[in-house]
Amino acid sequence: MSAIPRSEVKLEETWNLKDLFASESDYEARLDEIRKAVRKFSEQYKGKVTDSASALAALKDYASLYELIVPAGTYVSLLQSEDQTNSDHQMRGAAFGSLMAKSSSEMSFFESELSQLPEEELKNAMEQSEDFRIYLRDILRFKPHKLHPEVEKVLAAFSSVFDAPYELYNVTKLVDMNFPDFEAGGEQFPNSYNLFEGTWESDPDTEKRRAAYKAFYSKLAEYQHTTAKTYDTHLQTEKTTSDLRGFDTVFDYLLFNQEVDRELYDRQIDLIMNELAPHMRRYAKLLQGVHGIDRMTFADLKVPLDPSYEPKITIDESKKYIFDALSVMGDDYSEMLKRSYDERWTDFAQNKGKSTGAFCSSPYGVHPYILISWSGSMEDVFVLAHELGHAGHFYNAHKHQGIFNARPSLYFIEAPSTMNEMLMANHLLKNSDDPRFKRWVIASIVARTYYHNFVTHLLEAAYQRKVYERIDDGQSVNAGVLNELKRGVLEEFWGSDITIEEGAELTWMRQPHYYMGLYPYTYSAGLTISTQVSKRILDEGEPAVNDWLEVLRAGGTKSPVELAKMAGVDITTDAPLRDTIAYIGSLIDQLEKLTEDVASSSKA
Ligand SMILES: [Zn+2]
Repeated sequence: MSAIPRSEVKLEETWNLKDLFASESDYEARLDEIRKAVRKFSEQYKGKVTDSASALAALKDYASLYELIVPAGTYVSLLQSEDQTNSDHQMRGAAFGSLMAKSSSEMSFFESELSQLPEEELKNAMEQSEDFRIYLRDILRFKPHKLHPEVEKVLAAFSSVFDAPYELYNVTKLVDMNFPDFEAGGEQFPNSYNLFEGTWESDPDTEKRRAAYKAFYSKLAEYQHTTAKTYDTHLQTEKTTSDLRGFDTVFDYLLFNQEVDRELYDRQIDLIMNELAPHMRRYAKLLQGVHGIDRMTFADLKVPLDPSYEPKITIDESKKYIFDALSVMGDDYSEMLKRSYDERWTDFAQNKGKSTGAFCSSPYGVHPYILISWSGSMEDVFVLAHELGHAGHFYNAHKHQGIFNARPSLYFIEAPSTMNEMLMANHLLKNSDDPRFKRWVIASIVARTYYHNFVTHLLEAAYQRKVYERIDDGQSVNAGVLNELKRGVLEEFWGSDITIEEGAELTWMRQPHYYMGLYPYTYSAGLTISTQVSKRILDEGEPAVNDWLEVLRAGGTKSPVELAKMAGVDITTDAPLRDTIAYIGSLIDQLEKLTEDVASSSKA
């Protein structure tokens, strides 16, 4: 159970990075290739991008250069995420970062020259090439925010410095922070980020769970000031960039690439804070009653409703769940799922220094990779289905779109992933009438899918909005401020029913998303869309699946509003969100009812 070093994990539980580079020397050779291509590109095109024809010729080479860079960048970052304590990986990452900074500085002339082309030439080029239309449209949109070419060059040269806060955050969290064993019931237990989040936080033994919580947060507390300063540096960088580029607010700057307006962003946070809270408090009450907890605290919210029913699932057993639940997506999708296991796309191992949580990385031209730390719970199956949703998205988008057309707005990113969680739940519910099993499945959707996307990430989003309001106001943050803001949001959502005891205010330290702009709110936005579409799939079957596959294939060629519309959901109104919140309420109604049924049948 204790976290082992990376060197001791089983090969079959690791991802096969050889599909990126067969050897370290192949990777090194790629770096040389990149250096040469960058030099050649700047020799060939600098000062020569003067009309639509030269722009399109250069763009073709630019795209090829990107296709050289992407696998190298993926290789470097995946190695780092499998073991942050590995100093070779750290040094490789740093060297790659400085090569990229140098290259982007050398290449920055290109976007500057494109940006200086007359609007007519840009529009001309857009009409001539579907592959570069979106890219050029974004150049045109960004034109008012572009700075002098020499300034852009300097900013690009400093890009690895601008990325430093996120790296410092990771090093503090995953390298420097060492968690001592904690004691519960006279026994010692090991602790780490992954063990706490993957195991102890949801342990049904209240004494053990709370002891782990106390130990976890007291270690976090020791690093709160460094982490807060690191975060403030990131925020100030964003605010300065936003000001220099002439955005009215830092929100406008951060939402620019998402292609959504402030209204969609605010609505997501406000409606959920107000309208979901009563349902979730009911859910907390239900947990409290079932577990006989006298005073419900923040440390008790992740406990499963029926832990005695929680089956252990091996990696091999997960295949059946994944294949059966997601086969509704068709043969090609199922083939991809099979390949993901056969070709080791996924890193399942639990080891020291591994990134927390789970993610999917989808390099253009190669297959997707997934990181997860498999602890063997049903939750892991849902997480894997989620990540395979990202994989399925880019697997389809990459097949049908060029490198600059593949990636949609962040607003839409979590729709295909949460869709797979809904498909998993629907599949499990369909196959049983046993009240206990049904309660366990619904509890999994509430405790995992909706809790994660509509509660955890949403409360992060609500807190993050308060942080940025402060930053926009010209202020800065420190640990005291962040603790107060985080505590305020938790108390507002949970009300007086849940005690937000000491430590909970440090929860802001756990989330790397804060280094990725306005990301946290997009989880509930994506799940709103996927909840609606998964209902369509249940009701209509194949036509709805086909619409969804079309959406996946469209990649980044459409805005979030257009993508949702292709799948039959109108997110310009608040109806889909209200309907989804009501649906979560109805799931909790069912949990209350099934809990009564289970109790009365066990009495009979
Ligand atoms: Zn995701």
